[in-house]
Amino acid sequence: MLRQFGVVLLVSLLSSVPNVYAAETTAADLPDFQHSRADELAEYQLGRQFLRQLRGTTPLLEDPLLINYLENISYRLSFNNTLISPDLQVILIPDRRINAFAVPGGVIGVNEGLLLYADNEAELAAVLAHELGHISQHHYERSQESGAHNTLIYLGAILASIALSSVNSDAGLALGMSTQAALAQQQLAYSRQQEREADRVGMQTLVASGFNPEAMANFFSKMDKQARQVGLMPEFLLTHPITQERIADSTLRARHYPDKGVYDSLDYQLIRVRLLAIMNQADSQQIPAFRQQLKDNPNNQAVRLSLALALMNKDQFSQARSETSTLLAKFPNKIDYLIASADIDIADSKPDQALKTLEQGLLVSPDSVALRLYAARAATLNQQAARSLTWLEPLTHQRPEDPIVWHAMMEAYQQQKDALGVLRTRAEYVFLLGQGEKALKDLEQAAELAKSNYPLAAKIDQRRSEMQAAIALEKK
Ligand SMILES: [Zn+2]
Repeated sequence: MLRQFGVVLLVSLLSSVPNVYAAETTAADLPDFQHSRADELAEYQLGRQFLRQLRGTTPLLEDPLLINYLENISYRLSFNNTLISPDLQVILIPDRRINAFAVPGGVIGVNEGLLLYADNEAELAAVLAHELGHISQHHYERSQESGAHNTLIYLGAILASIALSSVNSDAGLALGMSTQAALAQQQLAYSRQQEREADRVGMQTLVASGFNPEAMANFFSKMDKQARQVGLMPEFLLTHPITQERIADSTLRARHYPDKGVYDSLDYQLIRVRLLAIMNQADSQQIPAFRQQLKDNPNNQAVRLSLALALMNKDQFSQARSETSTLLAKFPNKIDYLIASADIDIADSKPDQALKTLEQGLLVSPDSVALRLYAARAATLNQQAARSLTWLEPLTHQRPEDPIVWHAMMEAYQQQKDALGVLRTRAEYVFLLGQGEKALKDLEQAAELAKSNYPLAAKIDQRRSEMQAAIALEKK
């Protein structure tokens, strides 16, 4: 079975949501903001705080390959937006409704529903570019006074709308949102003027990133049609109202670009296959259909990967393996196939075999975060915690805010019965999940264990002060 990576959500209830109030002004009325360095720093800190609260209240889909893909496309777009985001944090929300959001301080969230509904990569990019447009134009600043207070209101409304509507998202679809969620949505709705501006800026970003600008109008009118014909309003439209005028404008604007850029990529199709396999683990009925499609077109890699993962989900490991072998015979270095093959071996309780495949892959792609995380996981499962740590330790420097890394490291230390290691990594993990007090307690215990090792004790103390400072800021 294709499982989510081993991150367990520690559920806690949404304690408090900052009061939100309605937007009174539109961007057109506002003067140019003098966005200072201090504002940016405050926004960065607020963005991280928002992320910890979100992780503490909403289950996220933690899959190294999916996250890696979303990070790549987000960096590509923000590189071509005026936003300067040296370290983006990208999250995938297991919610089938079509939505995405971006918040100041470099946090981007994508609902799995958006990935399923966007038929090609350019459509996904169009939505993300539009969201980045709102951020770079500071549309979240709802009053004339710029700065942290406004950002806080905006973040509170997003958190409320995600947390409240995810409490029971299936019922939410059928019965409508809770009043509180609806209210939060209302706070987040952009004005017509802001929508126009985000469309304009978003299309520039889209084109500069090499995507086909027609994707924007295509996706908007697809969502609009769904809302009209099926009567199901995509979540995205609640906060970004689509008008015929917007669709027409986007269509016209796209015509002005002579170079059309690309619509799609194989990587995007493979990522969707993977997401579907995670979402529909129980659904094995498609296997005959996949086989038929392959008979007609044996070179369709996305269908072959679908078949491999569906077979694995049905515990038909040797058949699944034969499909990934076919793929790897032709594309021996393709990370998606290496990892699918490792998934199968791990599901079949053969972590040693998975480790071999992953190590082969790392010879060619030593920088792949997904391969390294998978190799670490396979090593731990193979009772080789020390080996696992050789991959994880460098990742803690490269990705200090990635809960997957800390969780994997904690498991390796547990295997080694290294209490100090467990405490230090668990502190980082729970801190990222919004449990600051628990993290501080772990570090306190760690400092006690390390007290005869002065350099380490000093390091732990330092980290504890940093966390304390972040927690104090949250309470303000
Ligand atoms: Zn919008």
